[in-house]
Amino acid sequence: MAEKIKKLLGEDKSLEERIFTVILVVALAIVLVSTVVTVIEKLGMFASVSTLMAAVLLLVIMMINFIWKKERLARVMLCYVMNCFVLPVTFFSCGGIDSGMVLYILAGLFLIIPTLKGMERIVCFVISLICHVCTIGISYNFMAGNKAKTQFTTNILAKLTLEDRIIDMIASITLVSLFVCMTTYLILSEYQKERHNKEILLERLDDLSKKDELTGLFNRRELFRHFESVGLFSERKYYVAMFDIDRFKSINDTYGHLFGDLALKEISAELNGIINPAENEIAARYGGEEFVLLLRAKDDEEALRRVENVRKRVEHLKWEDYPNLVITISGGIINCFGYNQLTSMLAQADELLYKAKHSGRNCIISQKNSGVQGIE
Ligand code: GH3
Ligand code: MG
Ligand code: MG
Repeated sequence: MAEKIKKLLGEDKSLEERIFTVILVVALAIVLVSTVVTVIEKLGMFASVSTLMAAVLLLVIMMINFIWKKERLARVMLCYVMNCFVLPVTFFSCGGIDSGMVLYILAGLFLIIPTLKGMERIVCFVISLICHVCTIGISYNFMAGNKAKTQFTTNILAKLTLEDRIIDMIASITLVSLFVCMTTYLILSEYQKERHNKEILLERLDDLSKKDELTGLFNRRELFRHFESVGLFSERKYYVAMFDIDRFKSINDTYGHLFGDLALKEISAELNGIINPAENEIAARYGGEEFVLLLRAKDDEEALRRVENVRKRVEHLKWEDYPNLVITISGGIINCFGYNQLTSMLAQADELLYKAKHSGRNCIISQKNSGVQGIE
């Protein structure tokens, strides 16, 4: 049973559908308990039949909704049938104004709010309210002592003693408050679930828009956005390193594209491993097998030591299927201070990378060890 309810409230259902399911299930449970209470209270056959009829009607509405998939009809039926037929009939049969039926009337009006929408909701609410007011008015006519009562009305209206009234009030307040509190609680938890799922989805979309799918590194767009968000050119501590995998085309040709992808992932993990995001550092996939790191270091030596370190780590990576394979990277590193354009700064890093390739690969070239003059 619990599994079936969970399935009805499944993730594939919209929030509105799940809320309607909650209302139907809680309403049915409460009506079934009310039927039992009516029998226990000995309110008469007519009272028991009318509460049982409410349960049957709810079952029919559930069938219309879940089996015949006519959700809108089920919603409209639930609100109108409950408020304009079931509740007035049970009002008379279960003791009228002397009983706890007024509380049930409130519950009936309450269920319109999450069940219907817009104008439909307002119209149904007004009609139902008129219906309930009329019911109470008519019951006055029937119950007023000075009116002639037919055998019919005396048979139908349950006559409650003071003791009966107290018991009925306790039972009604318990059941109606359970209905209102349970539906409100479940509706709120469905909203929370929905909001949580939306947050996860937004985070995922945000991640997808910023990160490269294969390597998990930031993409080029995010790299440029990040460059612009930090005061790159005004601080001496920022360094940009550009890397390219050596002879990657032949690695792809020899070991296959899938292995090439794996190598890209492993090398990216090494590059990402030296990044400290708290220091505004970032690792990005700049192109196919090209990467850019933004680092903060106190001086050129520290920056060079860090990128040399990562170059060595890549060189010493072990490839499970090819134990003798050595994959290397080449790189160029520059200090960002004094540049005024990203393009000229990246062109400079690219030039140093190009030099590293021409110096035999598997090395890092900086402004100092290349002979290229820094901007300062
Ligand atoms: P060099 O040392 O001069 O950089 O030589 P190279 O072979 O690495 O240079 P080249 O630019 O000619 O080759 C880059 C290769 O990277 C070509 C392309 O197939 C491969 N590549 C780019 N993106 C991916 C990818 O996502 N997966 C795989 N497996 N290969 C990729
Ligand atoms: Mg390459
Ligand atoms: Mg390349």
